[in-house]
Amino acid sequence: MDTALADRLAAVDARIQDAARSAGRDPAGITRIVVTKFHPASLVIDLHALGVRDVGENRQQELTAKRAELDGIRDLTWHFIGQAQTNKARAVRAAADAVHSVDRERIADALDAAGGDAPLDVLLQVNLTDDTGRGGVAPDGVEALATHVAALPSLRLRGVMAVAPLDEEPARAFERLRRSADAVRAVVADAVWISAGMTGDFPEAIAMGATHLRIGSAITGPRPVRD
Ligand SMILES: *Cc1c(COP(=O)(O)O)cnc(C)c1O
Repeated sequence: MDTALADRLAAVDARIQDAARSAGRDPAGITRIVVTKFHPASLVIDLHALGVRDVGENRQQELTAKRAELDGIRDLTWHFIGQAQTNKARAVRAAADAVHSVDRERIADALDAAGGDAPLDVLLQVNLTDDTGRGGVAPDGVEALATHVAALPSLRLRGVMAVAPLDEEPARAFERLRRSADAVRAVVADAVWISAGMTGDFPEAIAMGATHLRIGSAITGPRPVRD
């Protein structure tokens, strides 16, 4: 076992506890997702041995391959956090337990049409930048998209997700995300998940009320280079 991995995981978890305490929040209400993208499946095995039960991937092919390879590990929850393409919706649905990146009606419809035995947990990804080319629905479109998704029978709308812009204080950007979270809850009262906070900004996300953190490199170490 990789003791450095165990140390990094413990250090991040201690910081999560501290940030929760400072915010007057119960750390039990926060799910720490370890983002394992670009790393081999063996890293997920090591993380699982350390007690990690939630992992995140941002590419459908990699998610599908790792989930198949680790089929014997039944108590992992796989979160898909990357851009979802409509023609890959069936594969995403087959491999993911939760999809954080629903940002338009077409992808919601495709995930719904892909069916499944159990409802699929989905979050609306909100674009916190001014660049409309970035992933995510614009904040002023959140309520309409939530209404659309709420009506799809095989999806369960759980809340919102966002990545803080690079050129802004994360705490300010996360305030906008909190307003989008409120807009979703006005449509579906129990859609209370807020997926926010990465290696560089998870304490700010906890202060804002994040329920799901997506932390990669602080735990895994640097990602192998891809592409
Ligand atoms: C890679 C990734 C993360 C984790 O990033 P780190 O900075 O390594 O913690 C979180 N969210 C999304 C959407 C990602 O693609």
